[in-house]
Amino acid sequence: MQLFSVEGNYQNIDAGAMFGNVPRALWKKWVKPDEASLIRLSCRGLLIKDLGGKNVLFETGTGAFFEPKLRVRFGIEGDRNRIIDSLEEHGLSENDIDAVVLSHLHFDHAGGLLSDWQEGLEMSLRFPHATYIVGELAWERACNPHPRDRASFIPELQPLLEDSGRLELVAGDTAVALGDSVRFWYSDGHTPGLMIAIVGGDGGVAFCSDLMPGRVWVHLPVTMGFDRYPEKLIDEKEQFLRELIDRNIRLFFTHDPEVSLATPVQDERGLYGTANEQACITGLELG
Ligand SMILES: [Zn+2]
Repeated sequence: MQLFSVEGNYQNIDAGAMFGNVPRALWKKWVKPDEASLIRLSCRGLLIKDLGGKNVLFETGTGAFFEPKLRVRFGIEGDRNRIIDSLEEHGLSENDIDAVVLSHLHFDHAGGLLSDWQEGLEMSLRFPHATYIVGELAWERACNPHPRDRASFIPELQPLLEDSGRLELVAGDTAVALGDSVRFWYSDGHTPGLMIAIVGGDGGVAFCSDLMPGRVWVHLPVTMGFDRYPEKLIDEKEQFLRELIDRNIRLFFTHDPEVSLATPVQDERGLYGTANEQACITGLELG
């Protein structure tokens, strides 16, 4: 199988909200916000060609489903779904995707499943031949959100997925549509049932999703204001990083605008960080 990073629409988001209780004086050393205190984040997907003969897309970014007013409110760039254009650069259309894996259904990860907004047109699902793979707990949360994270979900999306007849809900560590080369690991700190995919076993790649949205968040105490249970997230992150370092598994970031792939490392003081950062991956061979 070969791995490719596929860029989606950028999102400009309040910098403070991305760093939880980290003081501004500290996070300003890591990122440079604009005059409105916004930082520009990627919403990146991971494409795998020939995963047992299938084309598999891990996440779809925000896409362009929002009406113009909401697109501005949420700081999303572009009025067409950039993931689709990125797939085309790799010779694929949405018709060629056999499975789409969603770590959770927040709009910045799953919005790209939907058709681009057009006045008077109802939303419809993209990827007409794909199995949509969602964790059972993440699905329940999306169907019954808490008031604190309700705005992160798209109410129209769940009925469309259910009615497609191509939704696979996953509770264990593998999905029927993907076989054994993708194993799932669950985390509840960001949102209940966040489903993290590890591709290719030892020496493979982990799609970190919002457990670690970019390099900065690999450092244990750094969490997002959007995380439901920050202390739990930190404990999960530590357990996950230990296992990944042991098994020589690399990190794939969805929100880091500069880095798609990196190797997790721990220094002599016990602090976690990254090495061997790569901006994009094009045809990384695994297994
Ligand atoms: Zn999220």
